[in-house]
Amino acid sequence: MFDSLSDRLGGVFDKLRGRGALKEQDVLDAMREVRIALLEADVALPVVRRFIDQVTERAVGETVLRSVTPGQQVVKIVNDALIETLGGEDTPGLDLNAAPPIVIMMVGLQGSGKTTSTAKIAKLLKEKQGKKVMMASLDVNRPAAQEQLRVLGEQVSVATLPIIAGQQPTEIATRAMQAARLQAVDVLMLDTAGRLHVDQQLMDEMKAVAAISTPRETLLVVDSLTGQDAVNVAQSFAGQVDLTGVVLTRMDGDARGGAALSMRAVTGKPIKFAGTGEKMEALEVFHPSRVANRILG
Ligand code: GDP
Repeated sequence: MFDSLSDRLGGVFDKLRGRGALKEQDVLDAMREVRIALLEADVALPVVRRFIDQVTERAVGETVLRSVTPGQQVVKIVNDALIETLGGEDTPGLDLNAAPPIVIMMVGLQGSGKTTSTAKIAKLLKEKQGKKVMMASLDVNRPAAQEQLRVLGEQVSVATLPIIAGQQPTEIATRAMQAARLQAVDVLMLDTAGRLHVDQQLMDEMKAVAAISTPRETLLVVDSLTGQDAVNVAQSFAGQVDLTGVVLTRMDGDARGGAALSMRAVTGKPIKFAGTGEKMEALEVFHPSRVANRILG
């Protein structure tokens, strides 16, 4: 995760730290290199600009340059700016403060890792928070999508809504709500249909399901490997439904980090979870400070 970005930044900061006293020009030179590293990591240009401006302004101050360890200070400033860019220290977790059944609606494009993430989050809620969870697949477009969720449910020992062939997503959502109430489920996870592209039918279907289930959380699942495309997809969804957060998948294979670094700043939506592998336990609650630490090594 973030290996190439981490290597590039590591090189820049090793130089700074090795220097002892720093001049303004040294900081400016380092920032030029950081800028290139961020652009190569596929971070959105406005985010890169804001980041570099912010760090430069803070780092060329007299107190930094005159300190005994100016290189260290600059690294600290970069670390703080990374945390801010990633969403800040107080990035909210899942909001489960509502009367049960609390609905988490999962949305996203096909292949983003939506079904896998649904099961991973269900497992986490059950095992870490002791919640009674139920999952329902509303994906009637992709053959075997409902069956896939059922199999994952068995793997993580979470109940899934029995499949009734031929039902429409809104009918399934209504049935899921009834079942969740009857069975005193704490959290109901709705895995909505994905499409290959953002289209109006997908958006209308999501809105209809949201109207029936009034989700407390609407989480968009996007593939971090698609870089800035992931951010563009998030913007399209955010314009249509009330997204409460993002699940960034395939972070295990993302050496660049552009999607993670651009997401919050461009869409205003917090990344709540990171998918870090195919296994059901490969899910991390997203902590900006831990991620910043990882990037800076
Ligand atoms: P959906 O179409 O959005 O529901 O996507 P799926 O949940 O079926 O996932 C598609 C593929 O991506 C599956 O093979 C998953 O195992 C894989 N996948 C999902 N999340 C991750 C992740 O965080 N890391 C990796 N390496 N693979 C993932």
